[in-house]
Amino acid sequence: MYTIFTDPLHRIAYATDASAYREVPQGVAFPENEQDIIYLVETARERKTHLIPRAGGTSIAGQVVGNGIVVDISKHFKEILEINKEERWARVQPGVVLDELNLALEPYGLFFSPETSTSNRCCIGGMFGNNSCGSHSLVYGSTRHHVLEAHGVLCDGSVEVFKTYTIKALEERFGTRFWETDDDSLIQNIYAQLIRWALDEKTVRLIEENFPDKSLRRRSCGYAIDEVIEDLHNTAKPLEERTINLCKVLAGSEGTLAFITEIKVDLDPLPPKEKMVVCAHCDTLQKSFLGNLVALKFHPAAVELMDRNILELSKENVEQQKNRFFVQGDPAAILIIELRGETREEIDALADQMEKALMENEEHLVYACSRVYESEISKVWSLRKAGLGLLTGMKGDAKPIGVIEDTAVAPEKLPAYMADFAQMLENLGLSCVYHAHISTGELHLRPIINIKEAEGLRKFREVAYQTALLVKKYKGSLSGEHGDGRLRGEFIQLMYGDEVYALMQDLKKCWDPLQVFNLHKIVDTLPMDSMLRFEVGQKYAIEKELGGGKTYYNWKAAFDECKVEGATGAKNQLHALMCSIEQCNGAGDCRKSNLIGGTLCPAFKVSGDETKATRARANVLREILTRGWESEAFAQALDKDKSILKSKELAEVLDSCLACKGCRSECPSNVDMTRLRSEILQQKYDVSGMPLRSFAVSRMATVEQFGHLVWPLYNLFASWQFSSNIIKRIINFSTERDIPTLSRVTMRTAVNRECRRHKDQATKGKVLLFADEFTNFQEAELGLTFTKLLLRLGYEVEIPKHVESGRAAISKGNLKLAKKFAIKNVNLLKDKVSEQTPLVGIEPSCILSFRDEYPDLVPAEQRNEAKTLAKNALLFDEFIMREMAAGRITTDNFKPDAVEIWLHGHCHQKALVGTEKTVAALKLLQGAQVHVIPSGCCGMAGSFGYEKEHYQTSLAIGEMVLFPTIRKTLAHADDVTPCIVSAPGTSCRQQILDGTGVHAVHPIEILYRWVK
Ligand SMILES: Cc1cc2nc3c(=O)[nH]c(=O)nc-3n(C[C@H](O)[C@H](O)[C@H](O)COP(=O)(O)OP(=O)(O)OC[C@H]3O[C@@H](n4cnc5c(N)ncnc54)[C@H](O)[C@@H]3O)c2cc1C
Ligand code: SF4
Ligand code: SF4
Repeated sequence: MYTIFTDPLHRIAYATDASAYREVPQGVAFPENEQDIIYLVETARERKTHLIPRAGGTSIAGQVVGNGIVVDISKHFKEILEINKEERWARVQPGVVLDELNLALEPYGLFFSPETSTSNRCCIGGMFGNNSCGSHSLVYGSTRHHVLEAHGVLCDGSVEVFKTYTIKALEERFGTRFWETDDDSLIQNIYAQLIRWALDEKTVRLIEENFPDKSLRRRSCGYAIDEVIEDLHNTAKPLEERTINLCKVLAGSEGTLAFITEIKVDLDPLPPKEKMVVCAHCDTLQKSFLGNLVALKFHPAAVELMDRNILELSKENVEQQKNRFFVQGDPAAILIIELRGETREEIDALADQMEKALMENEEHLVYACSRVYESEISKVWSLRKAGLGLLTGMKGDAKPIGVIEDTAVAPEKLPAYMADFAQMLENLGLSCVYHAHISTGELHLRPIINIKEAEGLRKFREVAYQTALLVKKYKGSLSGEHGDGRLRGEFIQLMYGDEVYALMQDLKKCWDPLQVFNLHKIVDTLPMDSMLRFEVGQKYAIEKELGGGKTYYNWKAAFDECKVEGATGAKNQLHALMCSIEQCNGAGDCRKSNLIGGTLCPAFKVSGDETKATRARANVLREILTRGWESEAFAQALDKDKSILKSKELAEVLDSCLACKGCRSECPSNVDMTRLRSEILQQKYDVSGMPLRSFAVSRMATVEQFGHLVWPLYNLFASWQFSSNIIKRIINFSTERDIPTLSRVTMRTAVNRECRRHKDQATKGKVLLFADEFTNFQEAELGLTFTKLLLRLGYEVEIPKHVESGRAAISKGNLKLAKKFAIKNVNLLKDKVSEQTPLVGIEPSCILSFRDEYPDLVPAEQRNEAKTLAKNALLFDEFIMREMAAGRITTDNFKPDAVEIWLHGHCHQKALVGTEKTVAALKLLQGAQVHVIPSGCCGMAGSFGYEKEHYQTSLAIGEMVLFPTIRKTLAHADDVTPCIVSAPGTSCRQQILDGTGVHAVHPIEILYRWVK
């Protein structure tokens, strides 16, 4: 049974999608079955409100933003109901995610071919609603071309199956020539209206004359009346044999006509194995438009465009930096051209001819081509798909805004259309970002506009209007794939003319006379510049609470240093903080499930709950810190004098965040929730005090330091169940977890002793070892092992004077304390650490604090010193790799052996450095097979998994991928080859032990075991 949630958290989380719009809904529901949807339809009618069907919520035109009840089907309508290999179709519920469907289809050699860029989180229902398509639409078309059948609920609560019917079949159901008389039956009227139009020559002509070019592969503008009646006015057939399938008009109807509960789609065979991507570099944009026409002659599977701005933004994104390998020089644009064939020779020959045609011509359309094969191809596509997200990561108030981002004209008209378009932009004084599906004449054009200013808002409307006129001139479609929503609806009348627009209004009235479904979308929309996320001249409610805008991190520095053209920077620290939150554009990469992989976002992955995704955190932070108690989401009776930092909703979204940094690298817009969370937590503590547990955890190293003076007593107290339970209860830890005990001697003491014994034996240089607070007190033996390894490899080791890293303080939001540690460490280490004598760390999260947090935690005058120190603060594996590259460490230093290693990387390591270097270091053992476990965060995340209320969630996160993989691996291990589970993170090792009973080891221990 469903509930309609009307609490502020749900209403704020569902007040936006991936568009520029924001409107707080009345409530949010999560129906579990078709009957729930029927009840919801009845409820909406009774309450005189409307339902907004919502799947992944990645729409760009505000399709799922409105003041009705948002009905999220992504949680419970997730089943793949049937796959028919022979007939090549699948029956699915609308909440099935596209990539997840295609994973299930892979063993059958089939796939659902419209592949939107948001494939890892958009759902089939949402694709149907928007008539989505993707990079290969040249070959596969759009969703409309693939939906065979759908089940749905109409506004009167009746359930219908929409599929191909002949007129004869419809007459059998509704009576002979039923379209000539009006009836009480809703469904009969729906069919009757369309048949009447199809049989009326005048109406058919009107439609033919006013709809966009028929040759356009992409059209998602208005209701597709032309497509649904196509066969009905096919005079070559007898009337009774003509057919109609309402799916044609439901595709792209944006949830305004019916609520879909099941979809049957046709499938394509997987593409041929041999593929190649040619990345053709152009020195002007105009050349890329012409280059596209040349490339199309070679029948590519796709041609996509990326302009210089996107390439520039990709330099700032941790994840996408790795995918720029194919870029040569400084191109104005790159065409990504995919060629397919049966053999490598065949496509190489085709590429030779195509490259010749592109490069050896009078205009020199292309100055360089990079060919990319096999697994590298996915990196190119990943960069291309991240494009839109990267754009909204632009720092400052001016953003490449979604307003005319979806126009499509016939490709041969593109150069002329683009020339007119460039002139229009120049007249308006705007610059623009260009990217995406050039092969089908569709370009994502994003003018850079600051809609927080009146002049920007004026341009927002003006550019939309003038572009509509241009698209009409070229008989294009104002929307190629993103749909109209509340953004483009206003211009449909202009695009199609008054009469066709009236037909569309009539169509909506006929389907939804009771006004139940997603009102004010496509037709009768509100003004396109109303209900925006940002209001002109909007003040930040948080300003008065931050004591003059004081923040703990230096948020502004990244804005000052941003080199991207058009980035407007930030006025002050508070502005920079708010802009960092506003970088979330709602694109929803943080909604990937564990089947898709990556770390982002464990809290969502384990719950499937939107309010636990990074996007909801960013939405709640933005809404509360901007509008405060004035937000419509809050009831009127609130105590408005109470600090907004005390809001329950703020606490809730911060509480479910594991601070794993998954978003830091995987969110294309660089939303760094780990950092935002600690900043806001500290601000919260400033007004309401720090909870005991946060204080205790952030001071853990100090406690352990004193505990060490009486370590046997400490350990007894920590491990004796009675006493340890008392401690756990006081600080609200789960009694299921063990409190870490202390090593007999600290790492510092043990290492100093060892180094004294090996004095003067070093030949290869000196390493400064960072005795992080975890290894120093709890795992001194590991620190000693690393020292022995380094000594054996010929290095001198020293632990310099330093204080703890402050990792725990950062995690718990005790930034006042973390700042002190950062300042001290920079002062103590800045003159000692250098490229020749790096600072090397064992525990990833601690050493990476030097790189990620310190430069922004220390005062501005210390920033440069902190940055220099950061460059030379290395993880153990980075150091080993550096020495391997210099030839100072080789496989000869290690005994070859057959060993199987299963590696789980620490999430901070994955976010900032990746696991590739750990793998390479482990491969120093010749014969070692290293497998990276495709796990995200282990679930422990520092103290998160210890905390009573998070214990079960923590284990459930481990159970998604990590624990089952380890269990399966060890169950299949043979007695001959040692099989080792390895994890560099101390809390990951504890979590693996608690979750599986397996003792994972640090990679250093493996290397030491096999060093000669
Ligand atoms: C970064 C980015 C890149 C994008 N790239 C592409 C692209 O390459 N190609 C493309 O086509 N689009 C693209 N989009 C737009 C969007 O991702 C797609 O349209 C996507 O298919 C929407 O799916 P969703 O599950 O998020 O649907 P939602 O946004 O939740 O819903 C989409 C529409 O479907 C309706 N709907 C959902 N479920 C139902 C239901 N059960 N019954 C009736 N109506 C329903 C909704 O009311 C809404 O109108 C992109 C968006 C972003 C943010
Ligand atoms: S947090 Fe990042 S990934 Fe998630 S919706 Fe916002 S921008 Fe997209
Ligand atoms: S830090 Fe981790 S848990 Fe928190 S929002 Fe980012 S990905 Fe999600």
